[in-house]
Amino acid sequence: MTLTCVAGLGVSGSAVARALAERGEPVVVVEETEGERQLAAAAELAAVGVRTLFGPPVLPEGVTRLVTTGWAPHHPLVAAALGSGVEVVGEVELAWRLRPEHAAPWLALTGTNGKTTVVRMLTSILLAAGRKALAVGNVGVPVVRAVAEPYDALAVELSSFQLHWSSTLAPHAAAILNIAPDHLDWHGSMEAYAAAKGRIYERAGTVIYNADDPEATRLAAPYPGAVGFTLRVPKRGEVGVVEDLLVDRAFVADPVEAAEELATLADVRPFAPHNVANALAAAALARSLGVPSEAVRQGLRDFVPDPHRLAHVDRVGEVDYIDDSKATNPHAAAAALSSYPSIVWIAGGQLKGADVDDLVRQAAPRLRGAVLLGADRARIAEALARHAPNVPVVDVPGQDTGVMDRVVTEAARLASPGDTVLLSPSGASLDMFPGYPARGEAFARAVRELRLRRERER
Ligand code: ADP
Repeated sequence: MTLTCVAGLGVSGSAVARALAERGEPVVVVEETEGERQLAAAAELAAVGVRTLFGPPVLPEGVTRLVTTGWAPHHPLVAAALGSGVEVVGEVELAWRLRPEHAAPWLALTGTNGKTTVVRMLTSILLAAGRKALAVGNVGVPVVRAVAEPYDALAVELSSFQLHWSSTLAPHAAAILNIAPDHLDWHGSMEAYAAAKGRIYERAGTVIYNADDPEATRLAAPYPGAVGFTLRVPKRGEVGVVEDLLVDRAFVADPVEAAEELATLADVRPFAPHNVANALAAAALARSLGVPSEAVRQGLRDFVPDPHRLAHVDRVGEVDYIDDSKATNPHAAAAALSSYPSIVWIAGGQLKGADVDDLVRQAAPRLRGAVLLGADRARIAEALARHAPNVPVVDVPGQDTGVMDRVVTEAARLASPGDTVLLSPSGASLDMFPGYPARGEAFARAVRELRLRRERER
């Protein structure tokens, strides 16, 4: 008999433990933190017969399988399991194994950036087509909770961590949006990170990839019939852009001759090149299920962007203030920095081992100033000194709550009418904030304060 150990009482961990218990499988949870939230979750699970062991991460006696929601291989509990021959599977892998026959097909996607955006665009398109669809994975509902429900399709967001711990997923279609250095501390190397992402294709019905991204293209190369999406004019078998139209030359009756219009560029919001790529990826995934072009257009129009992704906060003194706090790696910040012509850039946080030289070199011509905060700000300052020596840089030290006010005040001082003050930090927020939303909210509050100060001065 399998005894499963679940690593941690997070939202997904709790959902896994409950799903197994409801199937009558023996399961035990190991949780290090005995906080209020964890105790409440443990009590709920105890009601369905699940034991939680609080304390150091030790593998309980008799465990034959460990389910992790994305812990690193070097985490003591995971390392103990791997060292003693206990099978380690991710929450998503377990969900796949638990899904009943004839369950809803999965449209799966991964990438360094854009996953949440694409999963939401995709869900919106599927709903516009009258399909009962749900976004699962990192966004919204844990996959394990949705697999047995009567959906027409699941839009599944997969992180590199979840893919690392997956081995048998066979989605109806799978897309890789882009691959750039991120989470290298977790995976150990860029090769290992890309390889984890590449696993999404292994058993996929249709392989979809970003034909403008070299790494995604390389990972799709072994799969005949793979469908590329591109910001260029699409070749046969691709989805792409022709003038101001999103055009399908892959999922059409006669791809030699035919091209089908899916939507216009104006249907993509917020408008930025990387969001057009996101829309094409979502469209291709939906089209693999036979969704008509009208639903693609309608779904993109209905799509509501999540906060902290190129969100317009305010316009003060003819300067726009943009919150892209979700840009927690250089690749995301690069997309934002190429979306505006004249920028005062707010950057910093934890770079997680990533290099910012290319980012700064490419952004240099658009930068009017930079304000740096957080743990790795010195590394960004060094890159600016190397590649943008004429750009004024203000360093704002400190960890206190007042830092963001000083940052915004300095950014406003550096900005001229017509400029964009862009919070697109390129690092994670956890050195100073509970998460990227709190960082974005602190920015928005500071911009409100700035507006009030300006109004009082008038
Ligand atoms: P994820 O779920 O992969 O983190 P999000 O959609 O939440 O992706 O976006 C994360 C960050 O990346 C945001 O700052 C956003 O503006 C930026 N971004 C979104 N799509 C892309 C893309 N295709 N390429 C680069 N950056 C992107």
